[in-house]
Amino acid sequence: MQTALAEFIRDTPEGREADAILRKCVHCGFCTATCPTYLLLGDENDGPRGRIYLMKQALEGREITDRTRLHLDRCLTCRACETTCPSGVQYGRLLDIGRKLVEEKTARPAWERVKRRALAAVLPRRSLFALLLALGRLARPFLPERLAEKVPASAPAAGAWPAPRHPRKMLALAGCVQPSLAPGINAAAARVFDRIGISLFEAKGAGCCGALRFHIGYQEEGLADMRALIDRWWPMIERGEVEAIVMTASGCGVVVKEYAHLLRHDPAYAGKAEKISAITRDICEVIDAEHARLEPLPRKKGGRSAFHPPCTLQHGQNVKGVTERVLARAGFELTPVPDSHLCCGSAGTYSILQPKLSGQLKRNKLSALASGAPEEILTANIGCLAHLQGGTEVPVRHWIVALEERLS
Ligand code: SF4
Ligand code: SF4
Repeated sequence: MQTALAEFIRDTPEGREADAILRKCVHCGFCTATCPTYLLLGDENDGPRGRIYLMKQALEGREITDRTRLHLDRCLTCRACETTCPSGVQYGRLLDIGRKLVEEKTARPAWERVKRRALAAVLPRRSLFALLLALGRLARPFLPERLAEKVPASAPAAGAWPAPRHPRKMLALAGCVQPSLAPGINAAAARVFDRIGISLFEAKGAGCCGALRFHIGYQEEGLADMRALIDRWWPMIERGEVEAIVMTASGCGVVVKEYAHLLRHDPAYAGKAEKISAITRDICEVIDAEHARLEPLPRKKGGRSAFHPPCTLQHGQNVKGVTERVLARAGFELTPVPDSHLCCGSAGTYSILQPKLSGQLKRNKLSALASGAPEEILTANIGCLAHLQGGTEVPVRHWIVALEERLS
């Protein structure tokens, strides 16, 4: 694609990066076939090719309108288009640049600004979120159905966290909303890791990975969250105490793996970010590599499970089929799930900011997951888990919790 970026951005790092990405796009449109919002709305501007064109126009200095912002807001950042694209267009990176520009050049209505500000203030603060969730649970019986389904019923207790006893150590990220919504995930991971000879622990005071604020229009605040998390982790990494950082939420994992890119122009953090991204693994990657230490496992008796691979795992991190392999080896009978490449509509804060589209995607996903009549749905990201559980009576769990239950 030919480009002529406007002077205000042409010679900046973002301008150079956007230009290189745009030039790779040959406008073939293969990506539109796998774009969930294009499939729902059938509008070129609600598909990747149309959005790329809108961002190109914005970067070339054309007027940026509320329509431009609407079409970018409707994008799930699922990155299914990236894994479909034969030319290797890094749509996600272009979108970060495009959204920043659109945020600077347009004014959102006051109510939208308040909503976004509130989400950016509450979600990354673990204690505040826990308090509001507890209040929401008390009020749940009185809430309208649409709101009540966003407040999950109380979560099962986490269970014991094994004492550190192995020379091999890995760090886990507690995250911001996961400890309140599903406190058992990291504890179950720690017990499985203990069995395979690895002590898993969380760093004191480690907070949000930065994804939440970064993706809803507060990129500088998101970067500040990333630096704060690096500060918490770095002493242990510098002393060589941990061999890897393990992500039990693929939504956090995809961003931490991109710290190296996102902080590459920050002289104080570029080196640390590079090291951190290099040693970050989704939990399925670690268990897959260590599977011999878990086997032989008794066959699971009865019960079929459907696995939903989050977009942040299959498209964002390009980790495909690994969890399924781990579960199949452990004797889980996985049901076939049509269109498993499509997003469930959770997508961070998307379910709150775009409830109509998100609701339709959730219904489609649940019907695809239910088609093999599973007894449970397994997934790998807290956002997808809570979102899907709000629409079904079938239990939705993190797969590591199901695996740990089998082992114990
Ligand atoms: S992003 Fe890739 S698949 Fe989509 S139009 Fe451009 S080159 Fe084709
Ligand atoms: S990231 Fe997802 S929703 Fe956005 S354009 Fe790509 S495929 Fe469509």
